Amino acid sequence: MFSLSILTALSLYASFVSSAPSNESSFDYIVVGSGPGGGPLAVNLAQAGYSVLLLEAGRNLTSDYSQLVPALIGQAQWDEAQGWWFYVKDYGNATEGANNDKMVWRKPDGGYWVGQNPPEGSTQLGVWYPRAGTLGGCDTHNGGLTVLPSEWDWDNIANQTGDISWTHDRMLHYFERIERNLFLPPGTPGHGFNGYQPVGRGDKTLFEKEPQILAVTQGSVAALGLTARAASTDFDVLAKQDINEFSPDRDYQNDVYQISFKKDERGRRFSAGSRVNQAIEWGLPLTVRFDSLVTKVQIDEDLRATGVEYLEGESLYLADPRAKRNNTGIRRTATAKREVIISGGTFNTPQLLLLSGIGPAEELKKHDIPVLVDLPGVGKNLQDHYEVGVIQEFPNNFTFWDECVYEAGQVSPCFETWERNGTGPWSTLGFDKFTLYTSSVAPRGSRDLILYGVMDGVIGHVPPYTNLTGLLNATNVYTYTISESHSRNRAGTVTLRTSDPRDVPEINFNYFTDGGEDDIQGLVDGIEFARKIFNSMPGFENTTHEVYPGPEFDTQEKLRQYVRDQAYGHHASSTASIGGDDDPLAVLNSRFQVRGVKSLRVVDMSAFPTTPGTFPLISIFMLSEKASDTILEDATLEYATQEAAKN
Ligand SMILES: Cc1cc2nc3c(=O)[nH]c(=O)nc-3n(C[C@H](O)[C@H](O)[C@H](O)COP(=O)(O)OP(=O)(O)OC[C@H]3O[C@@H](n4cnc5c(N)ncnc54)[C@H](O)[C@@H]3O)c2cc1C
Repeated sequence: MFSLSILTALSLYASFVSSAPSNESSFDYIVVGSGPGGGPLAVNLAQAGYSVLLLEAGRNLTSDYSQLVPALIGQAQWDEAQGWWFYVKDYGNATEGANNDKMVWRKPDGGYWVGQNPPEGSTQLGVWYPRAGTLGGCDTHNGGLTVLPSEWDWDNIANQTGDISWTHDRMLHYFERIERNLFLPPGTPGHGFNGYQPVGRGDKTLFEKEPQILAVTQGSVAALGLTARAASTDFDVLAKQDINEFSPDRDYQNDVYQISFKKDERGRRFSAGSRVNQAIEWGLPLTVRFDSLVTKVQIDEDLRATGVEYLEGESLYLADPRAKRNNTGIRRTATAKREVIISGGTFNTPQLLLLSGIGPAEELKKHDIPVLVDLPGVGKNLQDHYEVGVIQEFPNNFTFWDECVYEAGQVSPCFETWERNGTGPWSTLGFDKFTLYTSSVAPRGSRDLILYGVMDGVIGHVPPYTNLTGLLNATNVYTYTISESHSRNRAGTVTLRTSDPRDVPEINFNYFTDGGEDDIQGLVDGIEFARKIFNSMPGFENTTHEVYPGPEFDTQEKLRQYVRDQAYGHHASSTASIGGDDDPLAVLNSRFQVRGVKSLRVVDMSAFPTTPGTFPLISIFMLSEKASDTILEDATLEYATQEAAKN
């Protein structure tokens, strides 16, 4: 009987998986990339007893202070040793891009220029888009802000694919599985307290101590009409603790929240790389090879992925600011007995698929790459959350970082406090709150804007060699960055420039092509709301003023132009997306399998059909857990079926 055979098979299952590390070139699974998609997945597969090879183009820098100290994420983003720096186009035409205050140009003398009006003869490089090419991927230099996506984000995947395992109700347990919440009462519904992913928050007393931060917080609450709370000086009253509150109307609540982010009991940031380190310490059958840039998935004539080709060497990828064109690395291969899983992130996953002969036939032919599977969606559907900032100047310097100032040759007292107790200003990100708001064009009427605040001047991502000063160095400014969820654009593309795997692909977001008018309106609503906040601060009625975009942007039309010119993003997604059988651009089915190829999956931010959440990180970690379950389930079923066939 089949059912009996399955039972027998399942009981034998434990002995089927290889528990010892396998030889050097052959593994059950090969995972490419160690970010939030690939890192935890590789660990889970190894934990289940399979031999796993995790190939990471960068190195392990997880013990570097810039990756450990929450307040130093900016340093991590500017560190050449960690960065893959892309220069992207927001618009297809250079004229529109030229209005961007963050545009990077190559000057005739070979140096860089950042901003508008570059020296005569400069050429446009693109907008700096920092990614991390290191163990843990971008999770090592991001804010680690932990915000669950809306219910729609998961339900949409279920609806598109007809696979009900993706519904919000069924996805939520993955969050509970991974979370180790450090500040809510144990047992709080919808949260986990024993997972591997620590979630902490900033020390509220530090924010309460700073009168100007308190005023912005009070203004935020007042602007939402929550008058009774707005009078409080208790940060816990002003800003709710739990942005991931388990509540049926969570997606419709406009409110102010404290920032929760990934940090452990000792105040250390905890990234996907930290998770991989744990697995190595535990001696799981996980082999991690650093400095290993995967250049191609090997696919046999039966269209089955059988392994990968990779180059071994430091800084081989040309997005690495230290890369040298003549450093070509050593060619290696590795074999996957079961499957290859690509987790290279939104820019690199489609690049690797294309290099492997999977993608739009036209594009592959252009680069003389043999077409194995004509999959039009690879590198299409690129999208992002749009962001713009409103910067307000205050009468006084913010005192938050004052105790961190130190003389040359001395150690910052904030470092000592952080190192000793895991507390103090360096145990925070500097960001102090989120304000959730619903714009006039919100899809489905659910909150679509998240404003996150910091006592700093932020106009977007600018490279370390920037010539911009002024606002960026000011200590008496506060920025509310408005990030728009569920933006409508699907027109972005990642395409090959050449067939050299070390070359960086062409990345063009084609901003505001689809639904642009509504997306712009949403952001304008956000700017106006930020202004309302700054005008609602008790005790600061006439003493602060806007310095960016500035009071001269005083009409809807001017604000719309500001949004067009200055919007940016850092949550790029969806270039190898999951979709239904009837979706011509679907690259994956709902089980993460690349359509038309056996034993090949994609598990990372590129798999989402639309950019999830407000901040997507937790969504990717949840996706990675789901992928782990799916892959292990398929392995079990395959074994059971084989055993059943024998009987
Ligand atoms: C500056 C910045 C700040 C952010 N802040 C936040 C935040 O606060 N909250 C939030 O929710 N999200 C944030 N994000 C977004 C979030 O970090 C990313 O969406 C997430 O890291 C994507 O995970 P991933 O696994 O898809 O890819 P990645 O994190 O990009 O990881 C991919 C990994 O694969 C490796 N790799 C790529 N190609 C190859 C190859 N061919 N061979 C071998 N290795 C390869 C890379 O080196 C990298 O380590 C931020 C992103 C950026 C860039």
